[in-house]
Amino acid sequence: MNAALLTVGDELLAGDTTNTNARWLAAELADRGVTTERVLTVPDETDVIAEATRRYSERFDALVVTGGLGGTPDDVTMEGVAAAFDRDLVENDLARAAVERHLEAIADEYPELDVDVSGEAAIPAGSRPLINQVGLSPGCVVENTYVLPGIPSEMRGMFEGVADEFDGDVDSRYLYTEEPEANLIERLDGVRERFGVRVGCYPDREAGHNRLKISATDDETLAEADAWLRERVVLSE
Ligand code: ATP
Repeated sequence: MNAALLTVGDELLAGDTTNTNARWLAAELADRGVTTERVLTVPDETDVIAEATRRYSERFDALVVTGGLGGTPDDVTMEGVAAAFDRDLVENDLARAAVERHLEAIADEYPELDVDVSGEAAIPAGSRPLINQVGLSPGCVVENTYVLPGIPSEMRGMFEGVADEFDGDVDSRYLYTEEPEANLIERLDGVRERFGVRVGCYPDREAGHNRLKISATDDETLAEADAWLRERVVLSE
């Protein structure tokens, strides 16, 4: 299974906010054996979101979108996704009930809150609502596209509810060596060519070593590639 991540937000492009959502989601997907093939950040513009959603949802097995959801005018993520699938935004009963429950729960804290409940509960027609356990705005699943909130704690809570739907068979093994990367090239090419695995070399300057990562979809191939490389590389203590 492969996936793409689409993170929406002007503040991400301006460097005001660090894109922790992309990093967190990529790691979660990798833990589930899913390869993230693309990460794209786009501004809060409906057309741009729609175009990217269309392109990536067609190209990859799954697309995860995070961005501003809900009723305020700059929250155009849901609108963009709806446009990508040529669907209207319609109020969803389950989503509405969840929004009302959340408003009740925070009524004492925010007595003056004026929320457009129908707007908050609107998701693309025919999509599956994802209830927000932490915040107000629901997400949704439309075809292979998962729409999650931008706020990291809300995003994480919602992803955990659908995490089981992401299930790939890529596994990885790690080796650590102090040999310089330039000296390793032949052996890295060798393991790649011989076993058809993916190999990466990542320097960790603080630890003073290189981390070699081997990934494959077949356990036996992975074990063989790992053993082959271990015999040929001087491993760190
Ligand atoms: P609200 O209107 O309640 O503030 P929202 O639904 O409009 O939330 P956003 O505007 O997308 O959501 O983002 C809300 C917060 O989450 C902002 O502080 C934003 O910087 C942060 N955020 C958005 N996207 C990301 C991301 N990819 N990684 C980390 N933080 C993010």
